[in-house]
Amino acid sequence: MGLKLTSEDYASYLLRAFELIKEKKDYVTDLDLATGDGDHWSNLNMGFEKLAEKADELKQMNLSDEFKEIGKTMMSVIGGSSGVLYGSAYLSAAKAAKDKEYLDRNGLYEVLNAMLEAIMARGNAKPGFKTMIDSLHPAVEEYKRCLDNDLPEKELFTLVKKATLEGAESTKHMEAVKGRATYQANKGVGHLDPGAVTMSYQISTLMDCALEKID
Ligand code: ADP
Ligand code: MG
Repeated sequence: MGLKLTSEDYASYLLRAFELIKEKKDYVTDLDLATGDGDHWSNLNMGFEKLAEKADELKQMNLSDEFKEIGKTMMSVIGGSSGVLYGSAYLSAAKAAKDKEYLDRNGLYEVLNAMLEAIMARGNAKPGFKTMIDSLHPAVEEYKRCLDNDLPEKELFTLVKKATLEGAESTKHMEAVKGRATYQANKGVGHLDPGAVTMSYQISTLMDCALEKID
């Protein structure tokens, strides 16, 4: 027995991530006020609000259609750079999940890797640019390392969670190369990147859901 993450599981994950995002309203808004324009939390929250409304519909779909619908929703509801980036990520995830009834550990890796590649291509950014990529990339790298070393799933998901949270923290000392923090005189040094923080909320919640599925 290993991970079998279904479209229904993914819809419940979205609801859980939405709960965490709601709790972090002031914190994330302040982060984006420090280096950007302060709308990142409300942008993302609007997207998740819409996804939560659609949760029942989403869980009936196959995984690929579910990801496509999430992508379209995020692209149309979330304003700012993050809408386009998450939209592209999920449209790419839909391709990676094509014909899959559920995601096993390799399938989930393929989805996360597809998202990472889509975000890097769409935003023309790389790791180290002080963006959401800096909490997704280390998670994907750690995931790969765990798969290559054939680590048990419990360890794998725990280590990926740790990697995404540390990745978000690592943005504090980075100089921004992309995004609004580049307009700051010191390129945002000393502040966490809001997009990296909210990405880490999503990946860590997803890892919690995966951990519960294998209990
Ligand atoms: P905007 O910057 O348009 O106001 P948001 O506030 O919703 O959009 O999102 C800001 C976040 O988007 C940043 O914190 C950063 O993580 C991410 N971001 C911005 N530009 C890029 C990019 N080119 N590639 C990847 N992520 C980016
Ligand atoms: Mg903003």
